This record gives sequence, structure tokens and C-alpha cells, in this order.
Amino acid sequence: MQLTQRSKQVVNKQMTFTERIYLPAILKGMLTTLKHFFRRSNTISYPKQKREFAPVYRGWHVLKRDAQGRENCTACGLCAVACPAEAITMVAAERQKGEENLYREEKYAAVYEINMLRCIFCGLCEEACPKEAIFLTDRIVPSDYVRQEFIFGKDMLVEGVEPEKRIDVTKRQRHIQEKKQKETV
Ligand code: SF4
Ligand code: SF4
Repeated sequence: MQLTQRSKQVVNKQMTFTERIYLPAILKGMLTTLKHFFRRSNTISYPKQKREFAPVYRGWHVLKRDAQGRENCTACGLCAVACPAEAITMVAAERQKGEENLYREEKYAAVYEINMLRCIFCGLCEEACPKEAIFLTDRIVPSDYVRQEFIFGKDMLVEGVEPEKRIDVTKRQRHIQEKKQKETV
């Protein structure tokens, strides 16, 4: 019984004279090399040169603050539940008196971690968030040799209070909305 249709019978045929001197085969190979020499290269000299990303590229997350600099996240856990990779973990805490300038809601995430090695950058956490607290951005997650370095805590996720340290997500969000509108038309 034949297991495959691609089986080929091996024939032990004698080599011709031209096959035995190998020269035509070498010339053919060199011609192929020469052809590729003058073709446009598909590679670029990264990091000197960078490719343009899609405007809806999904990269390194940001935990946003409100206009007064308070953390938006209320540690509801919806992003963690929505995450198909189980990459998000958090520990909720009650806001104490005098912390109203730090956290917008009465509950906040004392610990918020994303395991970037697990994350598949699907964006479901962003979609699940009812507080506009988590967004994906166009920033690339930096590479590293140590696995532990890929557990991003609040120090790597929450944007800075100062205006120059804020992460602008409006452009990317606008593109997402436009894309959704086009899909519904
Ligand atoms: S982008 Fe997807 S995989 Fe990554 S943390 Fe968010 S929900 Fe999880
Ligand atoms: S980021 Fe959003 S969904 Fe996730 S815990 Fe905070 S408020 Fe809830």
C-alpha cells in the first residue's frame, strides 16, 4: 500500500559529462547569486533604520492617570478575567484618607503586574476596562536576557504625573475607532 502520493523512485543513472565536470552547475549557482546582488534588499539596518508601524499596533501597555494625576485603575479585575493568556495579576487595596489625590476611586491596585512573556498583545484587557485605565501603546517591549525582567509592575506601567511623562493614546484610539466604523459600514 502506498502511504504518500509524493514518493519518487530512485534511479541510479550515470552522470553525463557536463554533470561530472560540475562547471555548468557552479555557473548556474553564481548566476543566481549575481541576480540577488542587484535586487532590492528586504532587510533593513535596525536600529538605525526603523520600519513604520501600523497606526493600530499593539505594544507595551500603559496604566493611565486622570487630569489631576490620579490613577484611573480601580482594581476591578475585569482586564485579568478577559485576558486569554492569564498574564495580568493584581492586588486590590482600599484608598485611605488623604490618598484622594493619588487614586481616583475608593479601591485601587496596590500591585498590578503584566507578564510580557505570556502576553499576546490581543488588546482584550483594553476593551474590557470600564475605567479607561489600561491601554496598549505603540511602544515596543524591550528585549532582555532575564525572564524576571518581563514581569512589568506598576513602575513600568503607570504613566508619570508630569505632563511630559504622560503617554498619549489618543492617536491610536482614533485609528481604532475609524477602523471599527469602516468595518460596520
Ligand atoms: S493584551 Fe491580551 S494577552 Fe496581553 S495582557 Fe492584555 S488581554 Fe492579556
Ligand atoms: S485596568 Fe481597568 S479593568 Fe483592569 S483592574 Fe484596572 S479598572 Fe479594572
